[in-house]
Amino acid sequence: MRSPIEIMIDQATGHDPKSKPDLITLRCPECGREKKAARHDSDPPGTVVVVAHCDQCSGEDNGVYPTYFREDGTQILEEENHENARS
Ligand SMILES: [Zn+2]
Repeated sequence: MRSPIEIMIDQATGHDPKSKPDLITLRCPECGREKKAARHDSDPPGTVVVVAHCDQCSGEDNGVYPTYFREDGTQILEEENHENARS
């Protein structure tokens, strides 16, 4: 049960504890390992899975940007984020 103040903060920040999970899945494309991680402010809205190299697989040669996926498995494209940022 959330306190009235917590609910007020949620409303002010647009945080909805019911529809947005606080944890996202980080998946490494190299070794396939997955782990749960706290949602980051820079993650696009609707992100549930982030594919990015883990600590072990990331190296100097891995210039791969993280890719973001929605709950239905579709990729959230970088261009969409920029569109959203402009509007
Ligand atoms: Zn890995």
